Amino acid sequence: MKPIGAFISLKALKEYGNRLLEEYGIEYVHTHLPVFPEEAKELYNGVRCLPENFEKESYGDLKRLLEELRGVGLKFFASYPVFSRPEIARRGPEYSAWTILGKPHYARACPTNPDVLRRIVADLRSLVRLYHVEGVVLDFIRFESPMAGLDYFLTCFCPSCCEEMKSLGYNPVFIKRDWLRMMDFLGKGEFPKEIVRQGTLSTPDVLDVYNEFPGVFEWFKYRSEYIESVVRIFSSAVKEEGGRGTVIGANLLSPWWSMLTGQSYRALSRILDIIEPMLYFDWMQWEGLTAVKELSHTYGLDKDLLSKFYYVATGLSTIVQPRNYDETRLSGLPSSSIEAGLMKISHWNVGGARIWPVILILRTDFVHYLLGERISNISVAGREFFMESVKSAARGRADGLVYWNFDGAEKDVVRELYTVWRSESL
Ligand SMILES: [Zn+2]
Repeated sequence: MKPIGAFISLKALKEYGNRLLEEYGIEYVHTHLPVFPEEAKELYNGVRCLPENFEKESYGDLKRLLEELRGVGLKFFASYPVFSRPEIARRGPEYSAWTILGKPHYARACPTNPDVLRRIVADLRSLVRLYHVEGVVLDFIRFESPMAGLDYFLTCFCPSCCEEMKSLGYNPVFIKRDWLRMMDFLGKGEFPKEIVRQGTLSTPDVLDVYNEFPGVFEWFKYRSEYIESVVRIFSSAVKEEGGRGTVIGANLLSPWWSMLTGQSYRALSRILDIIEPMLYFDWMQWEGLTAVKELSHTYGLDKDLLSKFYYVATGLSTIVQPRNYDETRLSGLPSSSIEAGLMKISHWNVGGARIWPVILILRTDFVHYLLGERISNISVAGREFFMESVKSAARGRADGLVYWNFDGAEKDVVRELYTVWRSESL
């Protein structure tokens, strides 16, 4: 059987740890482990934004728990949220990402700030050193996505990041100018109305936009190049600390969204051992909703027409009939989207990384902070749907399977999914 992993909290690990493998087939525990700088002081030499120290007693208990659970065959991947760091961003504007107009991001650390980078490397090394984890999975190893709205999407343009752009051969002044000019052009409304009316984004339209605003395209290229360079640094740190056998993986956005945030499967497959694409049937459909809402408002476009065009522009129209705005926020893609995502990734996996899709096994219904509206998958999600999702991952020839997440899932269903995976993933 190909391996199963799951995101699981430390609390649930204490409760279910002994049964995880036998009852649910879960071998690879993905969890957030607290760093404990007191035990790895020299790693943090020169780091100014130090982590808080975790309680010594709890740290000891946790180490013992991991050792005990290794005895029943569990393996541990430390999940590490690289740039989504409200606690670092809050330390001051120099630590947070900046929008194109210079506003600090409330939750994102600046990806080029040297002190932030030193801190990340120290944390990664200490996770490997302190807990002897079998691997580290980088989460939020990307720039902001459109779900945060256009303002936050256009980050980071702080002085440090502009310097970084220059050192990689990009011109930040030119990139900023083209973005602002393009927004202005779109704001006039004629071009967006025309493409939404046509319902397609044709080659001449794309080339026309490229000719007029090449800096916008350069910016996407810069994003990928930069993420690739830091993944190399983080990967070397992990391997140096734990040995070549220590697994380095990353949670990447689905192939419909990854390129917008600086995640190139092509480039990262050459560095990472395991890629864990988050093929969430609902989020793959929701990721651009805030942008749809904002654009329709700002440019006077029909929200439903723009929503339908959104499926064409992202490529999601190859999986599902384009939906209007409310249908989009209150549903999800069919389970076949997992197989479709895996197929798309397989063409980009030039480095031969193992692909372990993360699939969603939760019912979700809440008001999204940035969208300001309810999003929900409950019209779709349920036992039957999750079974189909596992089959879809198997058909897509996934090398392993990861659940998001164990805590919130119905345990009977997780048990059944194990049976399905065991028979389908041969
Ligand atoms: Zn920055």
